[in-house]
Amino acid sequence: MKVLVTGGAGYIGSHTVLSLLENNYDVIVYDNLVNSSVESLDRVEKLAGKSVEFVEGDICDKAALSHVFKKFKIDAVIHFAALKAVGESAQIPLSYYQNNVHGSVCLLEVMQENDVHNFIFSSSATVYGEENEVPYVETMKLGTPSSPYGASKVMVERILADMTVSNGRFRGVSLRYFNPIGAHESGGIGEDPTGIPNNLLPYVAQVAVGKRDKLSIFGDDYPTKDGSCERDYLHVMDLAQGHVAALNWLNCNDEFRGVEAFNLGTGNGISVFSIVKAFEKATNKIIPFEVSPRRAGDLPAFWANANKANKELNWQASRSLEQMMEDTWRWQSNNPDGYLT
Ligand code: NAD
Ligand code: UDP
Repeated sequence: MKVLVTGGAGYIGSHTVLSLLENNYDVIVYDNLVNSSVESLDRVEKLAGKSVEFVEGDICDKAALSHVFKKFKIDAVIHFAALKAVGESAQIPLSYYQNNVHGSVCLLEVMQENDVHNFIFSSSATVYGEENEVPYVETMKLGTPSSPYGASKVMVERILADMTVSNGRFRGVSLRYFNPIGAHESGGIGEDPTGIPNNLLPYVAQVAVGKRDKLSIFGDDYPTKDGSCERDYLHVMDLAQGHVAALNWLNCNDEFRGVEAFNLGTGNGISVFSIVKAFEKATNKIIPFEVSPRRAGDLPAFWANANKANKELNWQASRSLEQMMEDTWRWQSNNPDGYLT
């Protein structure tokens, strides 16, 4: 089975491509490398002992996409390609809607024109917005996210719902990721942010390796156990395997038409202070930090109810917090400058 993976050179994409190869799927990666390098795919090929087709291109370029669909007989699409920096999305919202929403529409149009109907979408816990109570369950209504990035994910989920009405053959899965962290256990592939990391774990890891002086903890006065925000952190390899599980689910459910959402998380909320402690314990490194003001748009705490994915996809986040920390550190210490190392 041939799977087109948009954004497959990125953080979650590269780990998923590895899992797909290990599960005997043929993979074609389509990526414009705006936030990644092909080095990630070279390393994936080495780890898997198999090759990946790579096409450099933009999802907004329908002609280039059409060419890919004509050249390879694609059976299913996993759609990671997106811009993902929450803060940046408030500064340049039009670029986010252009890339994430218009780009997804282009991809769905080209799929339809080429009679491809199996689609897995990278959604996010952010679609639950501020209105819903934790833990988040798939039966809740989509909320109002606080950023254009989050809104772009809600919009694509709405588009998928509309597709199921207009196209009776559409088979879509929205995977709502919680907070993926960690790296492949080899330390060969991992998260390689450009510039100053926005996310917690890459920042902590860069402090540990000496690239940043200290971590700023955004707020210690939230209504949580220790005052810092709580999130549902899951290992990126568990998340990668969630995509294989979703693809297997589509393959086993021939009759399925429509779109289904699944939360991919552990079901546990972990605070920022606990993450720092867990990282220090797993790595024997001290992480200097200071408490700074809250970051605009952050919610105090959210985590998943992952029962639906556990039951229907037969998927569970199985790797421990300790392993997430150890694997983050193996990647960062082996590759202090990411893929440029
Ligand atoms: P990433 O930036 O590492 O990967 C995204 C990839 O898409 C990059 O390789 C980038 O070059 C590519 N890309 C971006 N725009 C493109 C375009 N127009 N055409 C072709 N390629 C393009 O990000 P990631 O963390 O791997 O995230 C993957 C997906 O998961 C994204 O859709 C993101 O919104 C979603 N997601 C991520 C997280 C997270 O915490 N990392 C959480 C929830 C959802
Ligand atoms: N965070 C922090 N310092 C940082 C980066 C993040 O204290 O340098 C906090 C942030 O406020 C949030 C948690 O860590 O409570 C996770 O943030 P991240 O950006 O990784 O994920 P998201 O906000 O998307 O859940």
